[in-house]
Amino acid sequence: MYSDRINSLPPYLFAELDKAKEEKESEGVDVIDFGVGDPDIPTPDHVVDALYEAASDPDTHGYPSYTGMYEFRKAAAEWYSDSFGIPLDPDKEVLSLIGSKEGIAHTPLAFVNPGEKTLVPDPSYPVYEIGTILADGEPVPMPLKEENGFLPDLSEISEEVAKDAKIMFLNYPNNPTAGVADMDFFEEVVDFAKEHDIIVCHDAAYSEITFDYDAPSLLNVDGARDVGVEFHSLSKTYNMTGWRIGFVVGNKEIIEGIGQVKTNVDSGVFEAVQRAAIAAMRGPRDPIEENVETYEKRRDLLIDGIRSLGLDVEKPKATFYVWANCPEGTSSMDFSKELLDKAGVVATPGSGFGDYGEGYIRFALTKDIERIEKAVERMEGLEFG
Ligand code: PLP
Repeated sequence: MYSDRINSLPPYLFAELDKAKEEKESEGVDVIDFGVGDPDIPTPDHVVDALYEAASDPDTHGYPSYTGMYEFRKAAAEWYSDSFGIPLDPDKEVLSLIGSKEGIAHTPLAFVNPGEKTLVPDPSYPVYEIGTILADGEPVPMPLKEENGFLPDLSEISEEVAKDAKIMFLNYPNNPTAGVADMDFFEEVVDFAKEHDIIVCHDAAYSEITFDYDAPSLLNVDGARDVGVEFHSLSKTYNMTGWRIGFVVGNKEIIEGIGQVKTNVDSGVFEAVQRAAIAAMRGPRDPIEENVETYEKRRDLLIDGIRSLGLDVEKPKATFYVWANCPEGTSSMDFSKELLDKAGVVATPGSGFGDYGEGYIRFALTKDIERIEKAVERMEGLEFG
């Protein structure tokens, strides 16, 4: 019944873990779930108020413009320029998205012919691989190794693969590893992309969740705009995951290509949501700073807990994820199951993000301090493996 495309999607690996979690809950265990990267902190009040007001205006009730309201694109360009110091043309270099996931998933349809390759980090957020498969392309993994700071080693990409690759996907600050990229790395990427005629799609969904560190934009590199685009999202920055709004900035032709796909498959973002997003981006940065403070406290508490288990973990400089090593000799799936069984704590096995995620486990800092304290108490003194 299903297309080869659907049949070739990677299997859902967490069914067993989901079932084990349900069983624990049905036994009355108060399971603490660090699995899902969905902020528990509400959207700022002024953004919600802007939505109420906009939704009451019948002018927002029709089909929106495909590319996003001019005012939205202008606000996004200003926000981007305030954050990274780079001016953008709101007409040609900014496109609204129904969440960055939507834009990322549709991008290969614009550029990848059947059988052509994309370069996809491993481990990674699954949409780069899946978007490629849905476009009948072939994802080629780029390993992210701890010894390389979770950056891909571009010198390991063979000439043959580089020649055939249409897109390189990157994501910094990174989900799931919490790795960060510096300008030297982005410069290397832009040189590589120019040499091999590859489009760079940088996913910067976590650019604002940083601790004592500023994440650069890919476009901060001279010449990056010749080869690349960057995806931004209001989801994590303003706790707006359910609102479905983001945008892509950068190279005009690439943006035009993504826009062509979108014009034919969707009809843009509800204008009331765009107006609320404008209120977010033009509003104070305090909600972002408060988020960062909250995640920092949670991070420190959880890291202490994980270290007390004798596990090796780096303090992340960015994102709301903690990427910890599993005990020697225990697979990430087994460790997750053990953690659930012995402590009633859920964390995501790294293997679910790709082969190179094996040996790690990801905790999302999307639970409040009390829950983290409770989880740490339960984990302290446990023996694993
Ligand atoms: N990119 C990364 C790396 C993510 O982790 C996520 C969501 O978890 C997204 C993109 C999707 O964000 P959005 O809500 O804008 O679709």
